[in-house]
Amino acid sequence: MSALCFETQITRRTVLAVLGMSALGLAATGTPIFADESRSDGLGKILPKFSEPSRLILARLLHDPEYSGRIPAVEAAALSRNENTTADKLMLELIPLAQSYSFAPISNFYVGALVRGASGDLYTGANIEIPGQCLGFAVHAEQSACSNAYMHGEKALTALAVGGAPCGHCRQFIEEMSPGGEILILTPQKPPAKLSSILPAAFGPAALGMKQGALPVEETDLKLVSGSADPLFAAALDAARKSHAPYSKSPSGVGIRTARGRIFRGSYIENVAFNPSLSPLQTALVGLIANGGTFADISAVTLAELENPTITQKAVTDTVRAAIAPSVKLQIVSASI
Ligand SMILES: [Zn+2]
Repeated sequence: MSALCFETQITRRTVLAVLGMSALGLAATGTPIFADESRSDGLGKILPKFSEPSRLILARLLHDPEYSGRIPAVEAAALSRNENTTADKLMLELIPLAQSYSFAPISNFYVGALVRGASGDLYTGANIEIPGQCLGFAVHAEQSACSNAYMHGEKALTALAVGGAPCGHCRQFIEEMSPGGEILILTPQKPPAKLSSILPAAFGPAALGMKQGALPVEETDLKLVSGSADPLFAAALDAARKSHAPYSKSPSGVGIRTARGRIFRGSYIENVAFNPSLSPLQTALVGLIANGGTFADISAVTLAELENPTITQKAVTDTVRAAIAPSVKLQIVSASI
């Protein structure tokens, strides 16, 4: 979460109202988001300074049922050209779009963030709060954007944009993504600053003997102990394989299936300081929210982890599952190395 929120609170609810239908959710059904000649009007409310050609690029991306909060590098470059702005400034200007996905029923503090990967692709992220549950389950927008890039296989992150200086928790989380603090932190009205300048004397992965951080993703060769043809089990296993769990050596992954049959996967992403770590369900929720989904869309949740892990995600996963999808039973599958 960042210290500064936008004066104009553009929430996901506002976006849906602006777009005139349950917009991004309906994208999954193939229903056009922008059906008439004013197809970019909705984005016009969120990004009023953007030109019509830029809004059309974004509308096309958002309309794709497979949209996952990723703006490909070629599209980002086109947006920069259209808006006559730099890659860094474009990220700042896109923050309201990321913010529109925020789900913050506890704080009503709506935050959006973007990161740029080494590929040049941009990834949006928004804060996600779990109603009625421990504040520690909340995902900050910066974590959301970073984990979105992680799940897309980015090898490194080069910049992160957010409306205000990242909180201490996020600075620590970002350190795991960019050990040494090379990533540029972009905030409005301030010059770009390396993470290392706002997190001096960082406690990084090297403190616990690691040679690298969370990126690039290193896969663990895991197999399901009991076979199953369910693609959701395979998705959870794949997410577990891509975990960053060097401290507990307990890889885990979650697969979420929606009522429309979409599957979102989330890997466990550990942090050297432990507490800022993201559980696999939190990471999977980032994917669901980035696609424009809501908790009500969840029809199945599967957790894959080792048979006898040093630490288990079962309890925390089921607690969060009960809060957001009470009618869904958590399925657990065991894996071995
Ligand atoms: Zn934060």
